[in-house]
Amino acid sequence: MANRDDITRELAECVECGSAYAARQWPTGGIQPIGTTSCSCGSTTFVLVDNSEGDPSFSGTAE
Ligand SMILES: [Zn+2]
Repeated sequence: MANRDDITRELAECVECGSAYAARQWPTGGIQPIGTTSCSCGSTTFVLVDNSEGDPSFSGTAE
């Protein structure tokens, strides 16, 4: 199969305002929004949105 590169398309959101962007994740782990270099709020820090089914963060509650 063709494997021209290891860049994957992901969904990322701004850590400042939560705006979601289509983004590429580089093999190095860097995240680059597609079509822009920064969020409309001015932030350049993005985190991947994990769309996998289920949410382990809700699997337990503090007692
Ligand atoms: Zn933002």
